[in-house]
Amino acid sequence: MAMNTQGRPSRPVHAPDPGAYSETFSGSKGLDQAEPLIFERGDFDNCGVDLPEPKGLKTRLDGLERKSAIGLPGLSEPETMRHYVRLSRKNYAIDLGLYPLGSCTMKHNPRLNEKLARLPGLSDIHPMQPQSTVQGAFELIGELAHWLMTLTNTPCVSMSPKAGAHGELCGMMAIRAALDARGETGRRRVLVPESAHGTNPATAVQCGFVTDEIPADASGRVDMEVFKSKLGDDVAAIMLTNPNTCGLFERDIKEIADLIHEAGGYFYCDGANFNAIVGRVRPGDLGIDAMHINLHKTFSTPHGGGGPGSGPTVFSEALAPFVPVPYVIQDGETWAMVEHEQEARDLSGGEPFGRLVAFHGQMGMFTRALSYMMSHGSDGLRQVAEDAVLNANYILARLRGEMTAAFEGTCMHEALFDDTFLKDTGVSTLDFAKAMIDEGYHPMTMYFPLVVHGALLIEPTETESKAGLDRFCDTLLKLTEAARDGDTGRFLNAPVHAPAKRLDETRAARSPVLTWREDETAQAAE
Ligand SMILES: *Cc1c(COP(=O)(O)O)cnc(C)c1O
Repeated sequence: MAMNTQGRPSRPVHAPDPGAYSETFSGSKGLDQAEPLIFERGDFDNCGVDLPEPKGLKTRLDGLERKSAIGLPGLSEPETMRHYVRLSRKNYAIDLGLYPLGSCTMKHNPRLNEKLARLPGLSDIHPMQPQSTVQGAFELIGELAHWLMTLTNTPCVSMSPKAGAHGELCGMMAIRAALDARGETGRRRVLVPESAHGTNPATAVQCGFVTDEIPADASGRVDMEVFKSKLGDDVAAIMLTNPNTCGLFERDIKEIADLIHEAGGYFYCDGANFNAIVGRVRPGDLGIDAMHINLHKTFSTPHGGGGPGSGPTVFSEALAPFVPVPYVIQDGETWAMVEHEQEARDLSGGEPFGRLVAFHGQMGMFTRALSYMMSHGSDGLRQVAEDAVLNANYILARLRGEMTAAFEGTCMHEALFDDTFLKDTGVSTLDFAKAMIDEGYHPMTMYFPLVVHGALLIEPTETESKAGLDRFCDTLLKLTEAARDGDTGRFLNAPVHAPAKRLDETRAARSPVLTWREDETAQAAE
């Protein structure tokens, strides 16, 4: 072996096959440190900090003092810090790599948003402060509301909903209130296309409606003949996603709006995919009555474990009177919050369906969304939609020769494949997705929408570069080739490089262990 004068090897030593040493004594893999649950680390008898015994303390709890130990882990500050940093390193994040989850719009959240959301005047306020001290925050909510109404061409928006599904609840409750006001309490059927997001039928049922499914036609869109045949005087509404979850624009949307209105029903549009059309299409022009917008998808605010959501819901003239409290209003130079239903009735003659939230707004989300809008401007927002669609079509074009595209033609913001290309390979959509984890990619959305078999739904968003998309496509093409060449071990064992291997996902979803108990630890760790 070549050595320098201090006896240090001056060239790499030829080592045996590293495969044999891939398991370590500690369980850690280099910089990927093994980490148990904080309760498994325990150290319950210790306290992480030294607190002096209080002198002369007289308890006023009258015998209600805690008798048993509180049972909190007693780690020191550096131990606690390391615990959470190690956990965070096991997390996949949009700041780490491409996150191609279809229907989720996982796009980069500009740091400018974060800077503004942390301004003390916006981040350090409390919902119970006197209104006179939060005028700037109200103005910000009002301005964001203005731009949401402008972008959708609608006369009214409720800023209260705290997520997309909550926005659906807001919209469907307004529809129910409007029907009740018309005395039409028998209209309780809601038409839901097969490609709908799972939250749509769930919301309809939650609001006391029954759902009636409309199948997709051969092009992946609403089957118009079936839709027409289902219209009737018990139909309350249609809940339609546009662009839909097959990544396709519903071409007949205006006709759908006209027909549902003629039949006396309302048009709920799931606008979670607004990212694909923002600046290009105003849903109000298409005849929608209510639509939620996921600020945390279209306007970049982080989500999916990264932060809370926000789902403002816009309304047509017909539903505007039923918009819930609370909301902000402007009177000259002053802003105020309308919090009580009676106040709303007195002010505008409206008939709010109730109070949707205790405290108004997701201030951080509002600030990020407005910051995103202002920094992009109207031309920039239009480009967001155009680039998102371009990127998805680039992926579709690069992969469709080897993987099977679910439908003919181009797509909107997401590209949908089915599992025909894996036929007879012994590899399923799930195995394919797990192998992607080993390649350093978060898998795409799988087995959704239900319209196609073994669905793989890829949404790259506009924030990925062409080089990044090429690396991603090259990897998927290599995996496709491996599956076809019979390299099934690569898939069936995957992921082998992830902190957690194959899990019993059904059991994890159906019987999750959410509280730590000493005797259950072994079971939870399985
Ligand atoms: C994300 C999404 C929703 C639900 O939004 P949440 O904020 O997760 O509640 C509803 N519909 C569609 C089409 C979506 O993509």
